Amino acid sequence: MTNLEDLPIRDDLRGRTPYGAPQLNVPVSLNVNENTHRIPEAVALDIIERVAKAVLSINRYPDREFTALREALADYLKHNLDASHIWAANGSNEVLQHIFQAFGGPGRSAMGFDPTYSMYALIAQGSGTKYISAKRGDRFELTPELITEQIISNQPNIVLLCSPNNPTGTPLSLSCIEAAYAALHQSTGGILVVDEAYAEFSADQGETALNLLENRPNLLVSRTMSKAFAFAGARVGYLAADPAVIDALRLVRLPYHLSAFTQAAAEAALAHSAEMLATVDEIRYQRDRMVVELDELGLDVYRSDANFVLFGGLNDPNAVFEALLARGILVRNVGLPGTLRVTAGTESETTAFLVALREILNR
Ligand SMILES: *Cc1c(COP(=O)(O)O)cnc(C)c1O
Repeated sequence: MTNLEDLPIRDDLRGRTPYGAPQLNVPVSLNVNENTHRIPEAVALDIIERVAKAVLSINRYPDREFTALREALADYLKHNLDASHIWAANGSNEVLQHIFQAFGGPGRSAMGFDPTYSMYALIAQGSGTKYISAKRGDRFELTPELITEQIISNQPNIVLLCSPNNPTGTPLSLSCIEAAYAALHQSTGGILVVDEAYAEFSADQGETALNLLENRPNLLVSRTMSKAFAFAGARVGYLAADPAVIDALRLVRLPYHLSAFTQAAAEAALAHSAEMLATVDEIRYQRDRMVVELDELGLDVYRSDANFVLFGGLNDPNAVFEALLARGILVRNVGLPGTLRVTAGTESETTAFLVALREILNR
């Protein structure tokens, strides 16, 4: 057994630690924005049936083009999309990695608007792409002007917009996305990725970047089954874009990257999309309840269109994090001064969190 330091790893990986939120076995886990509801039993049985069928031909490689899954995803997204516009991988993290492999790399740059999803900088790093940290305005909001200005002055090859934004919850208007696309178009002609991981929780379902795909061949709209779909453990993320973009992503994917089990399970889940999404309204209700009750506790709550809430006004967020954990409740300290982030859970999980917090803050 040798030490990591003794291995001839890449210089840019030296001294680094693997990324990942704590995975602790606690009664109330509200730290990684999962849908905390179990999937319906009838859907679970259908998934098992399809996976059982897949096992009978598991001696063969799976469909490398995952055509049936791409068709099912296109049907789910609508917006006149078909399988030729769809890509998928093992979580949208892998979709993002494919994007960086195809459009980033050494000598190229990617821009994110921080604080935003921390995987953007990490995947940039892993693919040798320079990460440019652009800034947000007051209360983490973005405007078309702020976006345009920073794209024009930094000339990135990839721009990432998270809508709504993680970890802040901030909604993003379509005018911001249009402005980003126009600015990129006139500077580097680069790729605009809109990460809609939480789109199903948005107040206005019509306000999706899918509406902007037509005539914008460099626009990629990324989605995931990990959040609203309650399918995080299955690892399925996907995107919609011009068919030429899909051709580009084929150049960097490993052959057969989506297993036959993954494809079968995802197809079954999508065949029941309405049932799979049945808890979304309830989660939104619990989110809004948290916004109201955190505000009543005198905390500074940021507006959220996702299934989580960022709240500030804490003198010692780490002490509050630890005190919640001691009561079996796991939230997230995302490193923004004075704040914590909490996922909207079931009614009883959300109640447990709010009751514990009230007690800890002695209010
Ligand atoms: C959770 C999350 C994802 C999803 O990641 P998966 O790999 O699909 O589980 C993507 N983007 C953002 C902003 C997220 O918060």
